[in-house]
Amino acid sequence: MSDTCDFKVTLLGTGVPIPSPDRFGPSTLVEAGDQKLLIDAGRGATMRLYQLGVPIGHIDALFLTHFHSDHTSGIPDVWLTGWLQSYFGDRRGPFRVIGPIGTARLMRKLEEAYAADIKIRLEDEKLPFEAVAILVDEYDRDGVVHDKNGVKVIAFEVDHGDAIKPAYGYRIEYKERVAVISGDTRYNENVIKYGTGADLLIHEVAIAKSELMSDTYIQRIMAHHTTAHDAGIVFERTKPKLAAYTHLAFLASPQIPRASVAELIAETRQTYSGPLEVGEDLMRFEIGETVKVRRCDFQMRGSKTTL
Ligand SMILES: [Zn+2]
Ligand SMILES: [Zn+2]
Repeated sequence: MSDTCDFKVTLLGTGVPIPSPDRFGPSTLVEAGDQKLLIDAGRGATMRLYQLGVPIGHIDALFLTHFHSDHTSGIPDVWLTGWLQSYFGDRRGPFRVIGPIGTARLMRKLEEAYAADIKIRLEDEKLPFEAVAILVDEYDRDGVVHDKNGVKVIAFEVDHGDAIKPAYGYRIEYKERVAVISGDTRYNENVIKYGTGADLLIHEVAIAKSELMSDTYIQRIMAHHTTAHDAGIVFERTKPKLAAYTHLAFLASPQIPRASVAELIAETRQTYSGPLEVGEDLMRFEIGETVKVRRCDFQMRGSKTTL
């Protein structure tokens, strides 16, 4: 894996609420210049960081897209395991969280929920108080939410359904290169607006075999997400150097199996003919003149060091 590229995006978890060991909960690591940013913290985000050899406490900021639990259930793990003063944790300053209105309340309640752990570790392990402190920045509209050392993050509202608000995507700009993450959304013009000019556009997607579509539960899920056909239209209109899927909702029932990756690609190809990757956990994109795709070999580099 090349370390010369200074703008990398790694899919830590490409899944949905399905507790699959192959696709962990939604989480994406953005490494730009001197910063490591995390977009969402779904189930297993810490385990993927550990596999990459990235100390959990070295995340500079966590950005939340929305409050569905599959995107947030890993937060206490990133926060508190990152606090441990060992090679896999090692946070030195406050845990920074940036998200839509509601982020402060969520983090305040997590502090309450884990008050006993914090008290115990402060007394027993003498962990630094300043590294368990939480700093929250909330926003309520489209705009720049982070701007530091040439790395700019812009939040933009998306449409995840009438009752699922707020919901945002992120555009990350660094050295005139751009990565965009749709967040959870159905087909939405704002993704096209902020996705235009992206080198890398990472989009969510959902697919179900047609036999499944009579099920009202499946219909409701599909109404909150983007079909491959519609994601293809987003890609065709924004023309990224590389389009990639994450948050792959392969819907199924006990009777009807999930669609295949080949079917997902075929449906996308109805509307889009450009470069496309179906994301996998630990797939890495290096954004330079072109966007290179690397697959991690799952080597657990972090485990070389002992406690
Ligand atoms: Zn989701
Ligand atoms: Zn969601």
